[in-house]
Amino acid sequence: MRILVVEDEVKIAKFIKRGLKEEGYAVDISADGEDGHFLVTTNEYDLIILDLMLPKLDGLSLCRKLRNEKIKVPILMLSAKGTVKDKVNGLDSGAEDYLAKPFAFEELLARVRVLLRNKDVRVPTQLQAGDLVMDLLNHKVTRADKKIHLTVKEYMLLEYLIHNAGTIVTRTMISEHVWDIHFDTFTNVIDVYINYLRNKIDTGFEHKMILTVRGKGYMLQK
Ligand code: CA
Repeated sequence: MRILVVEDEVKIAKFIKRGLKEEGYAVDISADGEDGHFLVTTNEYDLIILDLMLPKLDGLSLCRKLRNEKIKVPILMLSAKGTVKDKVNGLDSGAEDYLAKPFAFEELLARVRVLLRNKDVRVPTQLQAGDLVMDLLNHKVTRADKKIHLTVKEYMLLEYLIHNAGTIVTRTMISEHVWDIHFDTFTNVIDVYINYLRNKIDTGFEHKMILTVRGKGYMLQK
């Protein structure tokens, strides 16, 4: 497990690094937000420990920037400010956890362990049903190794169906997960999109994956 510590206070950064290394983690240190961003985008980290007050780019902005860029590495935010508001700001910016300075190393370690444990059961990078494969990192879909080009909406719809492969999903369920809150379930938009998907996924294949379950909804069968 590799951890990035973005902290400009040398003493604290070294203290964290030493302690984590003793626990068997690989640790990199960055002393400002811009450099931290560069490291995150050029390396694979399992966790980021991010200080709030940083030169060049502060912790909150860096956290938001990473989340906007769809970088999902868990973030534990550190700050000398320990008010509820600071904590909420940190979590709102996309951090998973927040720890106020000064902290006991044991507590930091416990939180690191929790975040790394959660990471193991995080969203998979690939979904598969039979010979249909969705690469969630690169947004690529293939069936029997044949590339399938989907629009964003079709992709979202397929992702929902494949998540629920083997079970019937109703139009209401689909609308709640794939369309936004203002979507009118009584329109036939869902059926139209199911047909688009069907044309792209099932055409040319003997085994049809997208089934219509009369009076109920749809099902993706493996
Ligand atoms: Ca700082």
